[in-house]
Order: sequence, then structure tokens, then C-alpha cells
Amino acid sequence: MFRNRKYFHVLLIIATAASLWGAAAIGQTPDKPPQKAPEQQSPEQQSPEQAPPALPEKAPDFVPGSWTLVLLPDTQMYAEDYPGLFTMQTHWIAKNKDKFDIRYVLHLGDITNGSKKFEWERSREAMSELDGVVPYALVPGNHDYHALADRRTRLNDYFPLEKYKQWPTFGGAMDDDMCNSYHLFSAGGTDWIVLALEWAPRDETVAWANQLLTKYADRKAIVLTHAYLYQDDTRYNFAEKGKKQGASPHGYPCNTSANDGEELWQKLVRNNGNVVLVVCGHVGHGRGFLASENDKGKKVHQMLVDYQSRELGGEGFLRMLEFLPDGKTVQVKSYSPLYDAHMLDPGSMFQFKLDE
Ligand SMILES: [Zn+2]
Repeated sequence: MFRNRKYFHVLLIIATAASLWGAAAIGQTPDKPPQKAPEQQSPEQQSPEQAPPALPEKAPDFVPGSWTLVLLPDTQMYAEDYPGLFTMQTHWIAKNKDKFDIRYVLHLGDITNGSKKFEWERSREAMSELDGVVPYALVPGNHDYHALADRRTRLNDYFPLEKYKQWPTFGGAMDDDMCNSYHLFSAGGTDWIVLALEWAPRDETVAWANQLLTKYADRKAIVLTHAYLYQDDTRYNFAEKGKKQGASPHGYPCNTSANDGEELWQKLVRNNGNVVLVVCGHVGHGRGFLASENDKGKKVHQMLVDYQSRELGGEGFLRMLEFLPDGKTVQVKSYSPLYDAHMLDPGSMFQFKLDE
């Protein structure tokens, strides 16, 4: 009954998506999803005098010996309207765990749209596809608080700390809940720590995260938080840019301290030499990438991805980071199990290198 209902949603979505894809992809093969409009492109991707270079025909094949980190961008519209798509994503991850050696899944926050109980139930059901198969970390986004100014969320009612404490990769939590947690795992011959931090982390959260990065200085670190980079490829910086950067963490009601992207960079990321990657969602049509040099002269790669403003709340697109066997190269892909297709534009498919 449960599963039948789940797959009924999936069937419904496939039917809708097939018609959408057909309408949107006239003249394009399924491997070439609709491209961004010029006004949405990052400045460096625009070339007013020349035609843009031709897109690659297809995504590069998975390189044997690589391992994969999957990012699940904002699922809020799925939780509200298209739960079958959310389940399709997690089901696909579980099914392809061995094929792509998927070691961890990071949910980028805004799990729900209105922190409503039915949305949380659907989210728990979708994420449960991964339980016992692939470990995951998740963070609350602004939409996951039913009283944002006071940071009240139902996250912990549906994703309780007691459950995750049992997981071998679960490091611990700041408080007695899942709003701030850390995770320890090894992949590709490297020991990793993931810091999963709440929406607009408070000062005490930043202090806790700093302690952990010091304690685990011998591990490469990934910071996961919902809002950090904006779609202009710069960090959220309310002090300098104010509301020019839409949906800034400082533009919401807040009765506690709060830190935006630039504040996190200054207080947490740049001074800890082991942070190699920061990932975030939050910006509706957003994708962004920024490499900045930390205090040790090493590059920190910072990535925004969020597909919630697309049709069907995101069309099932998720982001895969394939860590190649050389231990340095990371191949970024954006894939939809709904279409079995990749986005091929340079903002969605590219490489970066660790340890530079
Ligand atoms: Zn958000």
C-alpha cells in the first residue's frame, strides 16, 4: 500500500515530465536539457562578441576507482507537491550506490517548503530509502523552521538524533538535536569530516565548528550549510551588498546571532587549512562556484546548487561530485534520474582540483 502510493506519484510525475521534456527540448536530444537564459549566466560565462562554445555531446563516463558524493539540493517543492520525485532521487541513489561508489549524501537544506507535518512525513519517507544503504547528512534551511526568528523546527521530530547516533559515520551533534552535526568517513584514501551546520549559523555554532576543525585537523573537511554562496558566484555578504543579493540570511527575522557566507568565510573557513569544500543551496535558480585561497594558500572550493525553481520543483536533478582516483580531480555532474540525462552547460558540468 505504502509503496504502491509511492510509485503512483512517480508514474504521475513521469507522465507530466515526459510532456514537459518534449515541450522544452524541441530540437534537443534528451542529453541536452534546456539551457540557461543569457541573463542568468555568470559574467565569465557570457561572451557578447562570440558565439558560446558548443556543448559537449555527453557527460564524461564514470572513471573506475572514483568515489561519489551526492548533493541533494532543496527538496522543498517535492515535499510539498511532488513527493514521488524526492523518493525517485533517493531510490536512484540507493540503487546506484555500487555503480558510482556513492559514499555520502548531503542534503543542502530546505527539506520542506513550509515545515508542515505532511511535508516532513514525505521527506522522512523519501530519505528512508537511504537508511542502511548510504549514510547522509542534512541541515535545516530557512523553510524548515515553522518559527524562523526563534529557530523552531520539526526537523528533529522526523530525523531524530537518537537514530543517527547509531550510525558508524555519525560523529556527534552540537546540541541534543540534528540542527548541527558532524560526520566522519574515509574514501579515496582520505579521511573526511563533514560539518553540517544550521541555517545562518549562530556564533556558538561557528565556535563549535572551529573546535571540531582543530580537533580533526588531519582530516579534509567539507562544510555543508544552506545559505553561503549567491548566484553571482560570490559569498552572501550583507555588510557590503545588503539586499542586492536576494534572500540574504540577514534579510530574515532573527532573534539570535546569525552568520552569512562572508562571515563564515572570515570566522570559520579561511583560517582552518583543512576545509577544501563548502556546499550550499537556497537560491532558487541558483548555481554558483567560487575558489578562494585560504590563510594557508590552499584553494577552498565553494559551490551553490539549487533547482527548485525549475518545472516540477527541480525535475529530479541532483548533483554528483566524482572524486577521481588521482586523489585531486573532482568531476561535477548534474543528473536527473527522471530524464536519465545530464545538464551539459559549463555551470553544471565541470572539474576542479583539490590540494591546489
Ligand atoms: Zn532557503
